[in-house]
Amino acid sequence: MLANVPGSIRVARIFGIDINIHFSWIVIFFFLVTNLSESFYPDQFPQWSRQKTFVVSAVSALLFFASVVAHELAHSLVARRFQMTVSSITLFMLGGVASLTREPPSARAEFLMASAGPFTSIVIGLASVGIAFAANAAQASVPGLQVVAGVAGYLGPINLVVAVFNLVPGFPLDGGRVLRAAIWGITNDRGQATRIAARGGQLFAGLVFAFGVAFVFGIVVPQSEVQGILYGFIGYFLWNAASSSLQQERLASVVGGAKVAPLMTTDFRSTSPGVMVGQVIRDLVLPMNLRAIPVVSGERLIGLITIGDLRKVEQDRWAMTPVDQVMTPESELATVLPDDALGTALERFGATDLPLLPVVKDGRLVGVLYREAVIGYVRMQEMVAPQGRR
Ligand SMILES: [Zn+2]
Repeated sequence: MLANVPGSIRVARIFGIDINIHFSWIVIFFFLVTNLSESFYPDQFPQWSRQKTFVVSAVSALLFFASVVAHELAHSLVARRFQMTVSSITLFMLGGVASLTREPPSARAEFLMASAGPFTSIVIGLASVGIAFAANAAQASVPGLQVVAGVAGYLGPINLVVAVFNLVPGFPLDGGRVLRAAIWGITNDRGQATRIAARGGQLFAGLVFAFGVAFVFGIVVPQSEVQGILYGFIGYFLWNAASSSLQQERLASVVGGAKVAPLMTTDFRSTSPGVMVGQVIRDLVLPMNLRAIPVVSGERLIGLITIGDLRKVEQDRWAMTPVDQVMTPESELATVLPDDALGTALERFGATDLPLLPVVKDGRLVGVLYREAVIGYVRMQEMVAPQGRR
């Protein structure tokens, strides 16, 4: 799956890609180990000691974790081949997500990138099934192979399930991307392809949610609140993800090929790191009603001071607190390049509540892009653009 997931911690770095774990995955990991050690392995191998069962269960869960990472790495490496940078991979409840910093450049690129993950899961799945069969056949002569047969017998089917789930043709699942790439390739209309794939995603989300309701009330399926809540939660997540890609596509089609540069303001006020907070409030914030002011050293952007930052300073300390003590440093700021697409700026604005984005080129602050300017532009386009474009 490919999307963005906030709320996770970094655990490793492979091929320069951060591997993150979302808190929900830790819960799933715990459930997996419990389920494996309480029923899956004891049912098949009742002769194993409790300790052995637990260790094999934990190893199995870790290997499953590694399979999901392999699935996401496959997406990421193909994405990288097509110059789409992948910043991180996050493991969360439904498996993994690779965060792309850019949308795929062509239908072919998206098709290859989206299918690489499920393809990897299928390969791991089939290989594990093969190993399980071979180990089972040889088990009579070599007793140690029982563990191999057990673990492979778990990894095989579960990787195939991961592949099948991800191939459901609805955004944001891999199958949705494959579907979008196929329609995009045939019709040459990315917008329409996204809308169809996202509707597919919403439809699937609705079905998953309905399944959850069926479980809660025991309609058709046996009653189970836990299963019901789990399915309801997955359905809700998938619905949100599909809807947000629909919304993003709508905005992207409205802003089209527009760039940041023509909409940015080059006539803006800035301040220096050593200036006292009181002076900024007296000279810039109050008379000009500025809610965020870039902090520069020479022409270099070193931070942004906002009303929120200024509020943290007690009034009796205004005269002795320099701006750089309370500003948001450049390293934590969302910025854009003059050549960036307006769609990129919209995404950055979506992730923050700042009224402006600094426009930076080679470390130099060359302008600021106001949120209102972008919103105004989008409204204007919506008013004048022909209906067919949306
Ligand atoms: Zn995937």
